Amino acid sequence: MTVSIVIPLYNEEDNVDILHQRLRETLDRLGLEYEILYVDDGSSDRTLAILEEIQAKDKRIVVLSLRRNFGQTAAFAAGFDFARGDVVVTMDGDLQNDPKDIPKLLELIKDNDLVSGWRRKRKDAFFTRRLPSILANWMISRVTGVKLHDYGCSLKAYRRDVIKNLKLYGEMHRFIPAVASWYGVRMAEVETTHYPRVRGKSKYGLSRTIKVLLDLITVKFLQSFSTKPLQFFGPIGLLSGALGFLVSLYLSIEKIFFGKPIGGRPLLLLGALLIIVGIQLIGMGLLGEMLVRVYHESQRKPIYVIKKVIGP
Ligand code: UDP
Ligand code: MG
Repeated sequence: MTVSIVIPLYNEEDNVDILHQRLRETLDRLGLEYEILYVDDGSSDRTLAILEEIQAKDKRIVVLSLRRNFGQTAAFAAGFDFARGDVVVTMDGDLQNDPKDIPKLLELIKDNDLVSGWRRKRKDAFFTRRLPSILANWMISRVTGVKLHDYGCSLKAYRRDVIKNLKLYGEMHRFIPAVASWYGVRMAEVETTHYPRVRGKSKYGLSRTIKVLLDLITVKFLQSFSTKPLQFFGPIGLLSGALGFLVSLYLSIEKIFFGKPIGGRPLLLLGALLIIVGIQLIGMGLLGEMLVRVYHESQRKPIYVIKKVIGP
């Protein structure tokens, strides 16, 4: 088994050296082949310079320097693209995760495709970080049907093929387990140690909760309806159209058979609105269907994933 460690770093000049030291201690003791990919996410401090110094002394280190600050998800994605190991381990570069937990993850990855850390005793502020995270985890579990306690924990291990199949967008890295579950992966969870941030500043606050929420909607939609958008928009469109039709029919009967004026009735507006919304939604579903075909066929992307083929 060869292992790639991927670590995104954004202005972590005070953490890099200690991080590298601790990582080396753990990894060297494991006695397996490894590489460490440090992704400098456009830091404006000395992070990159320190990384270059470290790299010069050790050929097992790869430093990827992004042109500007693209965000943690993009930094992970860059690391994944360059990783060569059979197993890829991700973690934060601010010493909040403990490299000593890596062996636990590697042990479990032998029988799984994805192992997620669980910061059971998380050392972050309660109201701005832990509480939103508890709610988010509960919601992500409910919506995606993937049961994990801690999606946001960066310390995770993946088998190579899990991440090589993946395209990451937005703040999507926490949804890798949910997206990967579509491929049919075996997942495990393990409790990991968590430390408060001692040096440097956290890059996130409460505003991230909203981004996570919006990403969740995207993930859910892609997970359930990405190959059949009309199935999603269609029923709502049909319902709206049918209601609109009934309302209009009722009004027409009133007008034609009973000669009542209907021009000023609010119901007329509602009926027309429901019909238009219905047509729009079905149109949107059909457009979606076309997009799905363009998407899959232009990329020659099949709508299934094969684990292996047995036979000649
Ligand atoms: N990070 C990054 N790019 C960013 C923001 C953060 O590469 O735009 C890195 C950061 O250096 C750290 C990890 O992602 O290694 C987690 O960030 P942070 O500690 O700020 O998040 P928190 O632990 O507060 O959720
Ligand atoms: Mg942190």
